[in-house]
Amino acid sequence: MILPIYVYGQPVLRKVAEDIELDYPNLKELIDNMFETMDKADGVGLAAPQIGLPIRVVVINLDVLAEDFPEYKGFRKAYVNAHILEVGGEEVPMDEGCLSLPGIHETVKRGNKIRVQYLDENLEAHDEIVEGYLARVMQHEFDHLEGKMFIDHLSPLRRQMLKGKLNAMLKGKVSCTYKVKTVHK
Ligand SMILES: [Zn+2]
Repeated sequence: MILPIYVYGQPVLRKVAEDIELDYPNLKELIDNMFETMDKADGVGLAAPQIGLPIRVVVINLDVLAEDFPEYKGFRKAYVNAHILEVGGEEVPMDEGCLSLPGIHETVKRGNKIRVQYLDENLEAHDEIVEGYLARVMQHEFDHLEGKMFIDHLSPLRRQMLKGKLNAMLKGKVSCTYKVKTVHK
């Protein structure tokens, strides 16, 4: 089932998300719906707060990038109770966008090496060092679980320049191809 994506201004995007219990009802169905919603919106990642749930569940699909990054062929994973323990490595600037901020793309600097802990779709625990593009996508998605969005990483000047677009979103003016839920509706 395709769910509406909550956009900038929705309070759930600013909450710190909670770990879920291992017997969380219909987790498999929730993950399936998140994949379907992300695919429909052509995203590479989606965090549960973006569909209105303040819980620590994320899906990532890097298969769509396999042409440029062959190592990600077939990469579709869900992360449950995900936490970043450490960010390090070299700070790399790269263009980012977000399904919750339609029409906004900005350069964001992030470390290219992280340590993460999470449960996979089968609720098996992992503790991993992740590098490169995946480390970036994970930081973007796991930021959503801390109530953060990528615009929080921009300089005050860059943010100031986005004010018009952000205010338009607060008024419910959003232009994108997927179903959204603005704070206005
Ligand atoms: Zn995002």
